[in-house]
Amino acid sequence: NKVLDIEKIRNDFPILNRLVKGHPLVYFDNAATSQKPAAVIDALVHYYTHLNANVHRGIHTLAEEATAAFEATRDAIRGFINAAYREEIIYTKGTTEGINLVAYTWGRQQLQEGDEVIISGMEHHSNIVPWQIVCEEKKARLTVIPVTDKGELDMEAFYTLLSEKTKLVAVVHVSNALGTINPVKTIIDAAHGKGALVLVDGAQSSMHLDIDVQALDCDFFALSAHKMLGPTGAGALYGKKQILEAMPVFNGGGEMIKEVTFEKTTYNELPYKFEAGTPNIADFVAFRPAIEYINELGKENIRKHEDALLSYATEKVREIEGIKIIGEAAHKASVLSFVIDGVHPQDIGILLDNKGIAVRTGHHCAEPLMNRFCIPGTIRASFAVYNTLEEVDKLAEGLKKAIKVLK
Ligand code: PMP
Repeated sequence: NKVLDIEKIRNDFPILNRLVKGHPLVYFDNAATSQKPAAVIDALVHYYTHLNANVHRGIHTLAEEATAAFEATRDAIRGFINAAYREEIIYTKGTTEGINLVAYTWGRQQLQEGDEVIISGMEHHSNIVPWQIVCEEKKARLTVIPVTDKGELDMEAFYTLLSEKTKLVAVVHVSNALGTINPVKTIIDAAHGKGALVLVDGAQSSMHLDIDVQALDCDFFALSAHKMLGPTGAGALYGKKQILEAMPVFNGGGEMIKEVTFEKTTYNELPYKFEAGTPNIADFVAFRPAIEYINELGKENIRKHEDALLSYATEKVREIEGIKIIGEAAHKASVLSFVIDGVHPQDIGILLDNKGIAVRTGHHCAEPLMNRFCIPGTIRASFAVYNTLEEVDKLAEGLKKAIKVLK
């Protein structure tokens, strides 16, 4: 890579030094969760060593410093996705909680019998199940944009599904199972044309694509810190301010209230209205260095490197007899999914692990998508900025050997 010094980057990720079954770790399960740079790990230790206190409530020094560090991450997320206001950034446990928040608050308030919610055939279970629950409760209809043989959304079918009955379109930006980059801007514009809101599942896109929620004009955008070099248990839901303001509250408890009496409770302002209870303070504090790390490398540079890895891996894997790539969309990010004739994905996963190569096998929390392709699951290699072409060679070698053993 001409711009990024990948060896230097690798040195920032301590886990990449470890051996797995006697082999240097080759970590190709980045779509499940990314590894963490030392800056993030150090921030966790620093927080618990020097700052630990509960946020927002205390007037003592530790409470003030913890609050400042905790809130600084909100500004970093705002900048990262170019939201207009910091109070549009709601802290969540991750993408799953962000989507559930919208389903249980906006969905329960806004959906009525006969209304429709559109999702797509390549959604993660976390963008299916919450809508099933709320649609069943409200007697609304859940419809699904079909997926083509290439693993793209059938946009003609989407336009047919979209109508005045549509209240929400909830769609994944980048598929974790296939890597497909979906045309969310087109979807958003079309949905708005019918008066529907759009929620974008950004779990996979936030690390790989430039995100500008104002340019996209999406109404909600959900992300997880752990998919973008940050800690687990932290994430964000972006929502347009006027929509969030009109939404009912989610969890009840401390922090989300203004005044409480047994007769009546009034609620806090945004974003705290949606943030009941003591949050995952340390992990939010340590999320900021992850964002800064990405910003420093530059999304475009990261993307270029990941694209190079993906096209090299695609080429290498395609050469191997009996392998079929699932998902050959024109626009893809960082994910290579495939199946092998007569071989169970899990057996391949075990043999690769014996060589220190971590891939994901299975349905990738997208069972309906696997059913669409009539397969139980795939073998998925997913790439990050710290991966190398040499590691892709190891994967290809490992696959060839594993196939020989299994056939
Ligand atoms: N959507 C997509 C596309 C994902 O890849 C994931 C994580 N695998 C999720 C949603 C859920 O994210 P989390 O488990 O961090 O809540």
